[in-house]
Amino acid sequence: MTVRILVTMGTRPEIIKLGPVCQELSRRSGVELEVFWTGQHIELAAGLADLFDLKISHNGSKVMGEPDLAGKFSVMAQQIGGVLRQKRYDWVVVQGDTITAAAAAVAGFYNCVPVAHVEAGLRTGNLHSPWPEEFDRRVITLSSSVHFAPTAMARDALLREGVPSRDVILTGNTVVDALLHVREQVQGNYRPRDPDIAKLPKGRKLVLATLHRRETIGEGHRNVLRALRTLARDGDKVVALPVHLNPEVRGEVLDVLEDEPGVYLLAPLQYPDFVHLLSRAWTVVTDSGGLQEEAPTFGLQILITRDTTERPECVSAGFGKLVGTDYGAIVEGVRRLTADDRPLLLETANPFGDGRASLRIADRLLAPAVNALVAANR
Ligand code: UDP
Repeated sequence: MTVRILVTMGTRPEIIKLGPVCQELSRRSGVELEVFWTGQHIELAAGLADLFDLKISHNGSKVMGEPDLAGKFSVMAQQIGGVLRQKRYDWVVVQGDTITAAAAAVAGFYNCVPVAHVEAGLRTGNLHSPWPEEFDRRVITLSSSVHFAPTAMARDALLREGVPSRDVILTGNTVVDALLHVREQVQGNYRPRDPDIAKLPKGRKLVLATLHRRETIGEGHRNVLRALRTLARDGDKVVALPVHLNPEVRGEVLDVLEDEPGVYLLAPLQYPDFVHLLSRAWTVVTDSGGLQEEAPTFGLQILITRDTTERPECVSAGFGKLVGTDYGAIVEGVRRLTADDRPLLLETANPFGDGRASLRIADRLLAPAVNALVAANR
């Protein structure tokens, strides 16, 4: 029996986290795999499809032209729904908490195609932060037939919400699979694709920073940027900041950090280049979700410029500290982590996974007994 699977993605983190799942599914027999690409982050996706040998079967269009989230959601849901009606799919796979994932999950539910949610059960408990991701997560949970929880905490959150335990599978996060896939390629004599990386002075302590969250645009971001400026002026450190393409974020970054010696503003980096910088960093200042999961693989202690996190395992395992957008806490935290003559790395295992999450996900999606049961309940 062939299992027909539509994997949906549209943003950088979705390709990174679903790439290993697609690779694993392609290795199995009896699978008909199709990928729907919505194009939500078209510019940030360069090189990623090749990195994971992804073949795009369906290309969404016109999403970027939509002025608001509701518009993007409805265009994507319509397009994915159109594909789902063309033939009988056994699964539609969604990842995380983006508009792409929410639209695909709702399209799957309305078309009676079972939805499988990768990275299920993350919660801050605050519907407005991160926005709109926390809302998206809950909509996706409601729409899904199987929930792949990356950690025990995520699994427990789903069980508390009444999701039946037989539908929740603890897998680890597929980002660790992706990271291990590229880490080998980027250590030692790796030559970065972005020529600006070669300009980073090697003798200085590397502070890697990213920021893009919508809910802290404005004074919050400016505090973070002022802290990075102060740290770069310390002289012993260099700050590398790949600047997000959101025009508001770009404007803020240029306002505070343009022409600042000691700060290297980079274009969004291809994933191998970014992982290369992670392997050289002393610490990371970030509001990204994915980075909270990736930094532990390198033993890095990081500062999370948010008030809450849906990835508390990063904090409880000692890798992350929530500093909000507090100027003083960021400056003090980075100075503490760079005070020695060596980075303060932790030896604790990454709490987000062991690199085998995709294997567990593929096993479950292809289990004949599970598929028979899901089909019977349709
Ligand atoms: N990343 C990348 N290039 C960059 C910045 C980040 O490849 O210039 C990767 C990073 O390693 C992580 C993912 O993109 O896997 C995180 O994306 P983002 O911060 O946009 O989203 P979030 O994780 O917050 O959903």
